Amino acid sequence: QAKQQDVPFRFFEEHMGAALASRLVMAKRLAAALTDGGLSLHFQPQVDLASGCLVGAEVLCRWHDDELGTVSPAVFIPLAEERGMIVPLGNWVIDATCRQLAAWQAAGLVMPGQLAINVASRQFDDNQLIATLQRCCSRHGVAASQLGLELTESGFMSDPDQAVAITEALKRLGFGLSIDDFGTGYSSLAYLKRFAADKIKIDMSFVADMLQSDNDHTIVTTIIAMARSLKMETIAEGVEHAEQADALLALGCQQAQGYHFSKPLTGERFAERWLAPILV
Ligand code: C2E
Ligand code: CA
Ligand code: CA
Ligand code: CA
Repeated sequence: QAKQQDVPFRFFEEHMGAALASRLVMAKRLAAALTDGGLSLHFQPQVDLASGCLVGAEVLCRWHDDELGTVSPAVFIPLAEERGMIVPLGNWVIDATCRQLAAWQAAGLVMPGQLAINVASRQFDDNQLIATLQRCCSRHGVAASQLGLELTESGFMSDPDQAVAITEALKRLGFGLSIDDFGTGYSSLAYLKRFAADKIKIDMSFVADMLQSDNDHTIVTTIIAMARSLKMETIAEGVEHAEQADALLALGCQQAQGYHFSKPLTGERFAERWLAPILV
């Protein structure tokens, strides 16, 4: 009797031990990747829905490890947050983004709009964020107006007053600011009004079913109307079909991003396909 009861418990323990060990291994390799070049950036086009023109791109971090293979950011970003590595990782992303912008500039390529960098709440709490952004911009000769920051609603929740102060400072310096994954958090209209964001990103979970689900259609419609009344732009993420793009445009959404337009691309591919040379 007693032995039988032991079995599932022991199984759970061992299973947990293995998972912990592998996360520890992964964390060590991620720390190494930060300094030895295992990280890279992909860029996903953001387009104006009415014209189809490129208006910006989102910067997405990639990690390839020789033994672990390609690890999804859905795995390594939370790991970095858990292990206190998100600030150094985020700083690497900021620096590499500025370096890429400078390289395109040097090659005579025009990047319209902004490169939008994902910023984790922990980075946002870090009072070095503004200094880091400014240092990277000046190191690579990039203007603040060439960069946007994507923050999730949770980034505003821990210390709202401080978040308001930081967002206002960022805006004054010329950085763009968007609220990521909008609709999945808890922000109220009153709350949203306090933040100086210029853009709301409609979460892809609503976009995915907006043509099949009346609820999701209503949510998307409401977000667009709300953004307009707050004089904010809207961008829909995860747009995979032309029908979604058409419906979003009809509802007054200005911009979109998703596989229908392009998957995230390496810097080289992105430049080849999307960036035009400066005409002399
Ligand atoms: P996110 O910020 O919501 O980024 C959008 C995710 O959706 C990306 O996944 C992108 O590749 C994917 N995606 C784009 N278009 C489509 C589409 O049409 N359909 C579907 N199904 N997916 C689409 P990815 O690159 O795997 O990144 C996952 C998450 O990891 C991001 O979600 C973001 O939260 C985080 N992340 C990625 N890079 C960074 C980074 O540099 N810093 C931080 N803090 N987080 C990052
Ligand atoms: Ca994002
Ligand atoms: Ca998002
Ligand atoms: Ca998301």
